[in-house]
Amino acid sequence: MYDMPLEKYKESHRLLTSLEYETKPVVHGYANRTLFIDLSKNEIGIKPVTQQMKDIFTGGRGFCLWLLWNAVNSKTQWDSPENELVIAGGPIGGITQYPGSGKSTVVTISPLTGVANDSNGGGYFGPYLKYSGFDALEIQGKAEKDVIIFIDGDNGRVTVEEAPLEMLDTHRINVLLTEMYAKDEKSLRGVSVISAGRAADYAAISGLNISFFDQRRKEVRIKQAARGGSGRVFRDKKIKAIVVRFSDMKGNINGVADPELVSKAGKRINKEIAELDPVQNDMAHLGTTNLVEVMNYHDLLPVQNFRYGKSDQAVKISADYWRKVFDYSAPDSCWYGCSMACSHMVANYTVKTGPYKGNIVSVDGPEYETLGGVGSNIDVFDPEIVAEINFYADTYGLDTISLGNSIAFAMECYEKGILNKENTGGLELTWGNADVALELIHQMGRGEGFGMIVGQGIRAMKKHFVENFGADPEYLNDIGMEIKGLEISEYMTKESLAQQGGYALATKGPQHDEAWLIFMDMVLNQIPTFEDKAEALHYFPMWRTWFSLHGLCKLPWNDVVPVDNKLEKEPAKVPEHVKNYTWLYEGVLGKPITIDEIIFQSEKVYNFQRIFSLRMGYGKRENDYPPYRAMGPVTVEEYQSREERYDKSLREDVGLDPEKMSVEEKVDALRKYRYERYEKLVDAVYLRRGWNSNGVPKLETIKRLGIDFPEVVEIVRQNGG
Ligand code: SF4
Repeated sequence: MYDMPLEKYKESHRLLTSLEYETKPVVHGYANRTLFIDLSKNEIGIKPVTQQMKDIFTGGRGFCLWLLWNAVNSKTQWDSPENELVIAGGPIGGITQYPGSGKSTVVTISPLTGVANDSNGGGYFGPYLKYSGFDALEIQGKAEKDVIIFIDGDNGRVTVEEAPLEMLDTHRINVLLTEMYAKDEKSLRGVSVISAGRAADYAAISGLNISFFDQRRKEVRIKQAARGGSGRVFRDKKIKAIVVRFSDMKGNINGVADPELVSKAGKRINKEIAELDPVQNDMAHLGTTNLVEVMNYHDLLPVQNFRYGKSDQAVKISADYWRKVFDYSAPDSCWYGCSMACSHMVANYTVKTGPYKGNIVSVDGPEYETLGGVGSNIDVFDPEIVAEINFYADTYGLDTISLGNSIAFAMECYEKGILNKENTGGLELTWGNADVALELIHQMGRGEGFGMIVGQGIRAMKKHFVENFGADPEYLNDIGMEIKGLEISEYMTKESLAQQGGYALATKGPQHDEAWLIFMDMVLNQIPTFEDKAEALHYFPMWRTWFSLHGLCKLPWNDVVPVDNKLEKEPAKVPEHVKNYTWLYEGVLGKPITIDEIIFQSEKVYNFQRIFSLRMGYGKRENDYPPYRAMGPVTVEEYQSREERYDKSLREDVGLDPEKMSVEEKVDALRKYRYERYEKLVDAVYLRRGWNSNGVPKLETIKRLGIDFPEVVEIVRQNGG
């Protein structure tokens, strides 16, 4: 695995700065301090967590946004030295009695969107950071040479070390650093490493990997906080890795106020998972791969750059295949005690291409988003190739959603003649050409060729193709599957107006962790009116935001449900599980909470993030539109692929007779209708959220939420709120 003995790497480190600190117990979920590191000045400091921070921002993503807000200004770019990477768990995060309690959130000004991006991932980092003494880690500045940041929670010491020899690729550096920094060989589980990978030196679509040590398999595993380009910021700061060590997991380490109440919630959900997961989604065997078949059945699986929603070949990459190749020798929990255990892996995979050709590795994943992104969306249905891309995307540090959509966009441009072999460096970007897809990925890893262009994401490609290849900007805007600069998650939204809003009205960009309403809207027709959709686009983004404030994974909320859930008045909310979360909150923090107060906590952070976007020059109505392909058929062949459905809509919704129209006329008429319908949705959502018609939170809204800091008020006033 290494090129030289571990000691040689260690000896090459040069200490740049260090800080000794007193370790203290966590109280009611908070360490009550945050850690600040400036890599330009080689400074390390500790800041107190104030009561105001807790009251307004709760923790996790809320703390990250507040710390970042105070560090940057309206002119800050992703590569400005004052931009920060801020990483946090959350107050509930780190408990071991309730599944899904180990998430970390990463926040930074994104190279893709220019605004504050939040992305969350599993692994052990967030909880270990807190148990080491810090509710958040804030990294500013840029190192001169590659560094490793080491937070030693065992001994109360933080160091920044120049580290010239370690490799960048995740599957190697994470093993090396886990062994290097563990207290002893029995304590490998006490280390978590954050890394990016070699492509993060070049590609904006780069994310971060967060490790955990799989005690039963004796293997370092990874989860991703992949979205929004945080890997690129990480490497721009010349960070090779951030390591946290905490070797003493025990008892009530999170300092919870009422262990019995936490345990009551845990027992209820763990029993339910044991009894019902096998007969519901079977997450413990399939993870999210079961979604391939479901999405394909409902015409929602992205195929060929979201042109189509299904493929006869989808079965080849569906759960039936992964059930045969996933390793089931141990439960796949990405944090202690997660009984949902859905983080599967392919063991003993022989790499077929690139610098690791012939190596036998473990592939963490694939999950549904990867299967949709670098599988069906680029027309690749060979599961071994998807596993290969999954492996390289992880180890190079690439986000598989952005990667898949970017390659799919380039493939469609190739098909349309916008690209050709001359301007792709000889690559034939035909649908399903897996060799070319892999070559693009390796070029991203080497920082060369057409892969460098694809690796900057769709928004940058659109600009490049217009300026250099004479492409039609309107057409590219129609088919480029990004909003606000971030590539769209892997669900077709053409037939779900609510999900179009779920993606396009999300502050950071179109990410499924904010709102996933396709089934409620399109399949079950539970939210038929604009007001119903607006209510859902208020409640669910707020509810889901709450997970990121607390360091929680949302999968145990609705990927298993109680037997009688369907009898509930609002089954989509899974009321029994909402009750569990109120018990957890009270059990950990020692204060009761209602569902309205949960939504209120999220509303404060959500609106603050929207105003943060305004401060950076975005966050208005003009930024809240999806590409037309997310709303309806752009081309004649797309229309024809669902002709019956679209003709019916023209007849019943628009009052036209499709028999008397050409397909081109029908495409235009449907487009006009769908844009008008989208505008009405936006009006309804803004009204429900307390924003003005330009999407700016109103003064009365920010006062109600208690986020009316002078600068916030000024920004809102300047934008007419
Ligand atoms: S449900 Fe899956 S992703 Fe979420 S914490 Fe558990 S193992 Fe990790």
